[in-house]
Amino acid sequence: MRVSFQSTLAQRVDLMGRGVHGGTQSRVSLLPAEINSGILFSRPGHNGAPDRVISASPSAVRNTDFATVIGDGHGALCSTVEHLLAAIAGMGIDNVIIEVDGNEVPIFDGSASAFVEAIRQAGIETQAAPRRYLKVLKPIRVQDGRSTGELLPYDAGFRLEIEIDFNHPLIGRQRYAATLSRETFEDELANARTFGFMSDVAKLWSAGYALGASLENTICLAEDRILNPTGLRYPDEFVRHKALDAIGDLALAGLPILGRYRSVCGGHKLNAQVVAALAADKSAWTVVEPKRRRNRGHADLGVPVAQPAYRADLS
Ligand SMILES: [Zn+2]
Repeated sequence: MRVSFQSTLAQRVDLMGRGVHGGTQSRVSLLPAEINSGILFSRPGHNGAPDRVISASPSAVRNTDFATVIGDGHGALCSTVEHLLAAIAGMGIDNVIIEVDGNEVPIFDGSASAFVEAIRQAGIETQAAPRRYLKVLKPIRVQDGRSTGELLPYDAGFRLEIEIDFNHPLIGRQRYAATLSRETFEDELANARTFGFMSDVAKLWSAGYALGASLENTICLAEDRILNPTGLRYPDEFVRHKALDAIGDLALAGLPILGRYRSVCGGHKLNAQVVAALAADKSAWTVVEPKRRRNRGHADLGVPVAQPAYRADLS
């Protein structure tokens, strides 16, 4: 693996759209951030109230029902962060400030494509500090009903192995595996949309979810067919979307992961449980940065950072 440097956006970019759950309009702005800032969500204060900052970290997770909701522990919340986080992690952005004026990140077409396009438009700027990774040192395993999630040591990057098994004729068992790169993310995952079942709609609505869902932003499955007139973008779009969600949820580890993530029948809850289990076991991870070997020009991964300037709330 080559030495890679931290990166941020070259300039600010703004997006507007509706939330899939709340159905209300929000503005999201992505702004450049300093080295070692990580991913910071900022909820602007109104009427003289101060801005509230939520750092992308394991302890920020507040809810994982149908979407990932993060908060600062003092009432500031930001809902449905997973596709935006996936775009940021998938495009290799380390440091960014995300201003969200509203309660929920907009859904756009249900994939990460609008965020990827915004990041492309803004441009990516390399920063003068090596990228830091959260290196998995020993297996972490979470079992939750029929869902299993595992993080395993893997030094060649971040590898995803996602398997789903839905009792629906158009989904069934699907599997996706790849070692993540920006190209893999853009080509294979970024455009995969979220999905839902017609049979769940009444229940979701009565619980206050999916109020902004439509065929424009969700693949909608009836008993034996897809209701979206445009059909699927990939035959296995469902598992690809689950991989996209996992990338976003695992970005809440706070640093890019050097490890292998295996998930069977998982979702936001399982992803958050695995990140929390990793954070809780300090013998299971270390923070490393690739170091250039003298006269060789390639990186030696696994060099622990002497004094991890790591986000305090991981510990
Ligand atoms: Zn999703």
